[in-house]
Amino acid sequence: MSGFVFNEKPIQIERGDGAYVYDDSGTEYLDMGASYACVPLGHGHPAVQSAVSEQLEKITYVQASYPNAERTALYDLLADTAPDPIDKTWLCNSGTEANEAALKFARSATGDSKIVATMQGFHGRTMGALATTWKNKYKKPYEPLIGDVEFVPYDDSEALDEAVDEDTAAFIVEPVQGEGGINPASDGYLEAAREITEDAGAALIFDEVQTGIGRTGALWNSQRAAVAPDMITAAKGLGNGLPVGATLCRDWIAEDYGSHASTFSGGPVISAAAGATVSTVLEDDLPEHAATMGDYLQTELEAAIGDDVRDIRGEGLMIGVEVGRGANAALKELALNHQVLALPAGRTVVRLLPPLTIDESHADAVVDAMAEVVG
Ligand code: PMP
Repeated sequence: MSGFVFNEKPIQIERGDGAYVYDDSGTEYLDMGASYACVPLGHGHPAVQSAVSEQLEKITYVQASYPNAERTALYDLLADTAPDPIDKTWLCNSGTEANEAALKFARSATGDSKIVATMQGFHGRTMGALATTWKNKYKKPYEPLIGDVEFVPYDDSEALDEAVDEDTAAFIVEPVQGEGGINPASDGYLEAAREITEDAGAALIFDEVQTGIGRTGALWNSQRAAVAPDMITAAKGLGNGLPVGATLCRDWIAEDYGSHASTFSGGPVISAAAGATVSTVLEDDLPEHAATMGDYLQTELEAAIGDDVRDIRGEGLMIGVEVGRGANAALKELALNHQVLALPAGRTVVRLLPPLTIDESHADAVVDAMAEVVG
């Protein structure tokens, strides 16, 4: 028996420590993205390791309809740290599932069905989330998906204003598009989205699966824009590598969410992991550190390789570099010749999503490698 869905890379990663991972022959790689924004604290962070081990000793599963102390503490922590007035949380196992729930909750709470989503957006691959994802290749073999989804150009508030109407249940948007190529929203776009959705009685969903947990310079990107959506979805970095997702909601959504549940929702182990992760991100001021290191990295990359073709863009430690040729070839060279692991975003963008704990020496190493590979 073998798996069949992943295009495997020629490196088998066995262990991680901070910003580094090690393959089965002991070679060290700088992890600038292989962890996919999933380890904001770096690999093997002691706060998460010990919270998880202590929980493993106590109990690993509590039926979701009973409270458990770790889940209650996580609800409180997320309520305290989310933009007001968001203070209710639905916990699940992935980003896709968090978005799937958000779409369902929006339909139930508004009584409407139409969903507005953005071109180049990515929200997951289950039938509902997939219907709001842009790329045709991901959708074609599985059609028909859920109907009533309208796509608008990203970062265009006029088009959004035209699309959102009284039949709209939700507008779902990434504050910085990730899979679509690292496209940050312009100043004012998220604020306009807030006004447009509010006027139409539609829910505004910020998909913060990539931008959340401090990556773009605030715990939630919503706080950078000073916009409180109706829902924020999170996953990836929330459990520092363990599978946990969350749909954070305002009361009017939580009060009328319909009927939704899942066996592993808010299990004690992932709740302990997420609690330790979010607390440590905040205690160690990692959002601020991500903003500083992101500025440093972007400036250094700009100086080393920036030109008209090689656009460098992003917010905090969510950075994209247009490499002007196949991103996969550049990534392979970075990995095999320079021991730097990064990610693609589309065909021409190398994406950097390192642990938020990196310092200037890590940034310098990736700049040197990028200069050799694409300079
Ligand atoms: N939303 C965004 C913005 C994402 O980048 C992703 C994953 N790339 C998802 C949702 C889906 O998350 P998951 O893979 O955890 O289901």
